[in-house]
Amino acid sequence: MGAVSLRGVSKSFGVVDVIKDVSIDIAEGEFCVLIGPSGSGKSTLLRIIAGLETASDGEIHIGGRDVTDLEPKQRDIAMVFQSYALYPQMTVRENMSFALRLARRPKDEINQKIDQVAQVLGLEKLLDRLPKELSGGQRQRVAMGRAIVRNPAVFLFDEPLSNLDAKLRSQVRGEIRDLHHRLNTTSVYVTHDQVEAMTMGQKVVVLRDGRVEQAGTPLELYDLPDSIFVASFIGSPA
Ligand code: ADP
Ligand code: MG
Repeated sequence: MGAVSLRGVSKSFGVVDVIKDVSIDIAEGEFCVLIGPSGSGKSTLLRIIAGLETASDGEIHIGGRDVTDLEPKQRDIAMVFQSYALYPQMTVRENMSFALRLARRPKDEINQKIDQVAQVLGLEKLLDRLPKELSGGQRQRVAMGRAIVRNPAVFLFDEPLSNLDAKLRSQVRGEIRDLHHRLNTTSVYVTHDQVEAMTMGQKVVVLRDGRVEQAGTPLELYDLPDSIFVASFIGSPA
């Protein structure tokens, strides 16, 4: 259901080519990390997969379906951003149920789903709070809850931990991996942090200046870097 495939994807903003002929295959159930320096095109590529940005060229397939011309809501994906993007005037329960209410799901079903997801994320006691009454880690969990309630086949994460301190970061990192396995989803995870990429990724795609510099398992990239760029970026001794 959740395989993601990009075929010759390019994106220009005006005369500036930001994504250049990118092809990536992500297997169903795989945890794929996109890593690269700031400005290498990670967020743009993720937004193209989400449908928030239109590719200038190429095709995007999700779950075997050509979604290139489909709206975000037709793509069976959910996105978690670094800035949480919670509605400040809504409680945790209202934030998490927003998409389901929009889809006019029955109230009982919504409440049951929210209670279930809240339990998975340890948010049961916080459902009536507003975002401003939560810690950074709790807000990040609500943002994940909002994505999870929609049962997407594919999770897209854009540097979801960069607003958290080091200790929380390693905790939430583990939680995201757990959730990925427990929910049986495919994940595409953007970061510029090598440690995060090497510990979380089953597949790691290194982006440089809008192109795929190298893709492989963490071990492959570490042991057999194709270039000095990959070696120095991943931190291997080559
Ligand atoms: P990353 O997430 O890896 O830091 P981005 O995908 O945000 O990189 O940006 C890649 C490049 O595309 C940058 O040079 C950025 O300035 C440019 N860019 C991103 N969005 C736009 C836009 N809407 N208009 C013009 N240029 C953009
Ligand atoms: Mg970015």
